[in-house]
Amino acid sequence: MNNPVHKDTQSVWGGEEQSWMQGATQVPVVHSVSFGYRDMDEWMQVAKGEKPGHIYGRNTNPTVQAFEEKVRLLEGGQAATSAATGMGIISSALFGLLGSGDRVVSIKDTYGGTSKLFFEFLPRFQVNTTLCDTADHAAIETEIAKGCKLVYLETPTNPTIKILDLERLTAAAKKTGAIVIVDNTFATPINQNPLQLGADLVLHSATKFLGGHADALGGVICGNKDLVEKIYHFREINGATLHPMAAYLLLRGMKTLHLRVARQNRSALEIARFLFEHPAVGRVYYPGLETHDNYEIACKQMQGFGGMLSFELKENTLEAVKRLLPRLRFAHAAANLGAVETLVGMPATTSHVECTARERAAMGIPEGLVRYSTGIEDTRDLIADLTQALEGI
Ligand SMILES: *Cc1c(COP(=O)(O)O)cnc(C)c1O
Repeated sequence: MNNPVHKDTQSVWGGEEQSWMQGATQVPVVHSVSFGYRDMDEWMQVAKGEKPGHIYGRNTNPTVQAFEEKVRLLEGGQAATSAATGMGIISSALFGLLGSGDRVVSIKDTYGGTSKLFFEFLPRFQVNTTLCDTADHAAIETEIAKGCKLVYLETPTNPTIKILDLERLTAAAKKTGAIVIVDNTFATPINQNPLQLGADLVLHSATKFLGGHADALGGVICGNKDLVEKIYHFREINGATLHPMAAYLLLRGMKTLHLRVARQNRSALEIARFLFEHPAVGRVYYPGLETHDNYEIACKQMQGFGGMLSFELKENTLEAVKRLLPRLRFAHAAANLGAVETLVGMPATTSHVECTARERAAMGIPEGLVRYSTGIEDTRDLIADLTQALEGI
């Protein structure tokens, strides 16, 4: 969709350009569970979807709808729907679109919860997933060409920040008619728009960068209208509805999304360069470094490289990570990312907490890996903090 309004303006105004009760300038938090009608014919029309309006809070709600609309405009999709968490929207999408006998092609580096759906839950319903090596585009193309209902991608990945070429892989899926879903949580709509690169659907854990303040859970998906309707229909029945209060917090957070992400992009690049030179640090994973395996792809499809990076300590052990993290003054050691505060974590307690040490090793995730979610603090303070913490180990 060709949208003449720029993303910075859309972050502020998107979904909010209508008149609210009594001229309120901010979207009201509508807690009402149901919506009453005095005209039974009008009620009937709204219920049938012939007229805009709301019936019951598990289905739709004005605050939630404003949030969905803001994301839809930023991603340039036809339609959007949401859920209580990122996993709520991912599972609604997979269970809403797939049926017994369908095949999925995905990558080994999807978010830990998503890979649980592929390993543990979907096979119970005879939906099997082939998980390809994330670094091997040719292998992914080969698996897609064998035929599948759905291609599920994520880029950049968690926690080793790998990059997939979305134009290349969506082109492969188009040839076989497979639906392509992209988890765009790490990039944000400011840095990357998968729908413009050929994906059918793009989703976010809104808990992370979209909300940005680590105080509300949420998930959202947008893209092709028919597909979004199927996902919405399953979500209204499974009941994983986004709460209006959470929707409000996410909406408020998103008004500064463009400012936060711009700062995070800049700081993360500087920090990645600093870590790259540091004697106590081994590999640094950041797509904005020329040494990153997929630097060219990142330059082609991303408008910024994002706030997420990870690095391995030279002493590549969990013990070394356990000594480092508590020494950081300006970083919460917590299982979250994308907030205004810097956050650090280790895969064993964050992205891959659901996996055993052996499963993590099989996925190529080193035990001495530190995931670093850059906040909006002054970059100089973050680098000084890392300097003193790395000296201490
Ligand atoms: C956190 C996260 C999810 C899951 O989101 P929740 O809101 O925690 O359910 C999915 N994908 C990615 C990339 C994530 O970082």
